[in-house]
Amino acid sequence: MREATRIVRAMLTPAVAGEAMHGGPVFAAPFHVPGDVEGVAYSYGRSHNPTWTALERALGVMESGEGYRARALVFGSGMAAVAAVFGSVLRPGDAVVLPSDGYFSARLLAEEIFAKMGVEVRLAPTAGEAQGDLVDGARLLWLETPSNPGMEVCDIAELCARAHRAGCLVACDNTTATPLGQRVLELGADFSVVSDTKSVTGHGDLLIGHVAVREGRAELYAGLERWRTLTGSIAGPMEAWLAGRSLATLPLRLERSCANALRIAEFLSGRAEVVRVMYPGLKAHPGHAVATRQMRSFGPVVSFVLRDREAAERFLAAAELVTGATSFGGVVTTAERRARWGHDAIEEGFIRLSAGLEDVEDLLEDIGRALEATG
Ligand code: PLP
Repeated sequence: MREATRIVRAMLTPAVAGEAMHGGPVFAAPFHVPGDVEGVAYSYGRSHNPTWTALERALGVMESGEGYRARALVFGSGMAAVAAVFGSVLRPGDAVVLPSDGYFSARLLAEEIFAKMGVEVRLAPTAGEAQGDLVDGARLLWLETPSNPGMEVCDIAELCARAHRAGCLVACDNTTATPLGQRVLELGADFSVVSDTKSVTGHGDLLIGHVAVREGRAELYAGLERWRTLTGSIAGPMEAWLAGRSLATLPLRLERSCANALRIAEFLSGRAEVVRVMYPGLKAHPGHAVATRQMRSFGPVVSFVLRDREAAERFLAAAELVTGATSFGGVVTTAERRARWGHDAIEEGFIRLSAGLEDVEDLLEDIGRALEATG
């Protein structure tokens, strides 16, 4: 079976006559457990839930690749998934190597919480595999490629090889590409970490995340599961069910949003109002060769820089089909002036745009009009 077929069928229930083809959410804190708890699959909703199990099986299908199968664990958000990797791996005296230009909340979690508990935080930029120079003596190398918001790219296979030679584990935040767009476990990462709030679920109506490891990495899996149960960083059954319902359309949604993103990036590249465009699918992107080797599609996020803050604000105000909002990977095209959050070393006119599923000709006309309004 080919990938899209496997994913479309991944949430089907076993073919039992008269049973629903798709299971519903199971809402439960306690489950019936008379007598001995041994051998009972579900006892309490902070430890396990059948709706998670169905979703985790489907995510495991998506995360599996050439010659290996993956196991996934779902969490209450992407950050809960990030925290589970940090929390299950890092101990006082350990060092973690993070991208200096990756998603800011992961960096802040490391700096504000883990560094204060005795974990050394080392930072280097994503581009040029600069993080590889810091892995000696480190416990965990954290990658994010393409990085949010700069869309920088690093060579996952090369960095995993360097980290593993140094005895260091590797986690890769694969949120912007999704497991369909980039198989980070196949490229050598020990952990695949995804905010499924973004493209994987894609409708902008829930928060959820997951971590996947190769089958056979039982110690890593057990550490994550223990963390989830003890911290209660769990997804609600309704969110898990909605997420499962969204998976079947991911191949189609991703195909359309990535095609739209490439057209938008090419369009922006030809416009005088635009100072710089960052999209790994563009031949002019410095990481294009690496991205072409390791990515199967280039993702829905296009970042670009306008002259200054005023030009960016005018663009966003004038665009009618680019909805002003944070986050990315949804069905509707959105954008924001990223510097408004204040945590990234970027220009005031930096815009992060997420291509949706609209007709791209409408988007290009609208973006063209909005650029003219920047003055
Ligand atoms: N990783 C990346 C790359 C992100 O962009 C985000 C959210 O923007 C997260 C992790 C955290 O995900 P969540 O918002 O689901 O906690």
